[in-house]
Amino acid sequence: MPVALLTLFLAAATAVGIWLSWRQSRHVRSRRGAVPADFAGAVGLADHAKAADYTVAKQKLAILTALWSLAVTLAWLFFGITALHRLLGAFLVSPVLAGTGLILAMTVISGVVDIPVDLAKTFGVEAKFGFNRISPRLFAMDWAKGMALNLLVSAPLIFGLLWLIGAMSGLWWLWAWAGFLVFTGVLMAVYPIWIAPIFNKFKPLPEGEVKSRVEGLLARAGYRAGGLFVMDGSKRSSHGNAYFTGFGRTKRIVFFDTLLERLSPDETEAVLAHELGHFRHHDTIRSLVRLAGVSLVVFFWLGVAVKQPWFTDWIGLPHADAAAIIVAMICIGPVGLIFAPLTNWLSWQAEWRADSYAAALTGGTSHLASALIKLSRDSASTLTPDPLFARFHYSHPPLPLRLARLRTAAAAP
Ligand SMILES: [Zn+2]
Repeated sequence: MPVALLTLFLAAATAVGIWLSWRQSRHVRSRRGAVPADFAGAVGLADHAKAADYTVAKQKLAILTALWSLAVTLAWLFFGITALHRLLGAFLVSPVLAGTGLILAMTVISGVVDIPVDLAKTFGVEAKFGFNRISPRLFAMDWAKGMALNLLVSAPLIFGLLWLIGAMSGLWWLWAWAGFLVFTGVLMAVYPIWIAPIFNKFKPLPEGEVKSRVEGLLARAGYRAGGLFVMDGSKRSSHGNAYFTGFGRTKRIVFFDTLLERLSPDETEAVLAHELGHFRHHDTIRSLVRLAGVSLVVFFWLGVAVKQPWFTDWIGLPHADAAAIIVAMICIGPVGLIFAPLTNWLSWQAEWRADSYAAALTGGTSHLASALIKLSRDSASTLTPDPLFARFHYSHPPLPLRLARLRTAAAAP
């Protein structure tokens, strides 16, 4: 009976996700024929229609992906975990080692099982709309490198976690949480110097107008960067971006080469000013504090669920800490969907704040607005998303809302 309940819960969450995707497709399709009035001069009808087709194609794939991952999760619950647990238990005597093996083996198998989905996204949808630049060879290398890195990093963590559960009394989850926070901090600090270079090449921003503008802006904002870099984002995709990364000594600003190709120096400056707005408002620290709060709740839940015989009995799984952790994590998966609108709302607030900061720092909103329109058009983002879908899935405010805010900011004295 509890298995049926859990299955129903996971299926219901999948159904909500599919319903949102369907709403998004319907909303966008019905507005495909006309560019919204606010964008009439800036976006052509062909670009608008392409964005609509791209959005619909992405949602089609999202629906298939949701069904696929539901099927995979249920397969794990109904027989995968038990079978793998038996197999590993046969030659790994230590429960901690066997548990680590179970979770790592699941990571590899899940990674392999998801390959068709990744292929369909990269060489199907992205390629069809002209965004994909990755070769099959680079795709395979990325997959192998990503998986190796994942296993290398998670093996000691999972081993440590399972050891803690065995060695500590009821409060193991509090220690695990503290360890998780330290690990996240270290990872963020070493990411730009150790991890990002595994996947991309970084060159210092070349001398020229963009660089002098950027340096002038940083000086005005009172920001000291550890370096300005250009990343070869173009080897994978033509989507453009810019970001801040690292902590303390590893702090740096990274521009995608695809961004610099497309934006004028004025527009690049405006995009950077927006990023500086995030820095000025301590958005990284805010999101870290949020992460600490959310992860505390997750670890508390693990503390409640693991070590309860009824919890794995419920599903008919072996009594093993690793199996209990896996099931506990599967149970909270759908909870993320419930909180998505709140998380996105907080993120939208941060975006509005960064936009106003950029407007104040660069003395206007027109360059930021034109940069945002260009980036949105070139990445075929729809200008007419379903409002409910956006609440659940957009980390950034939809462009029409964002530009409306920018216009009010510009009109204010
Ligand atoms: Zn932002």
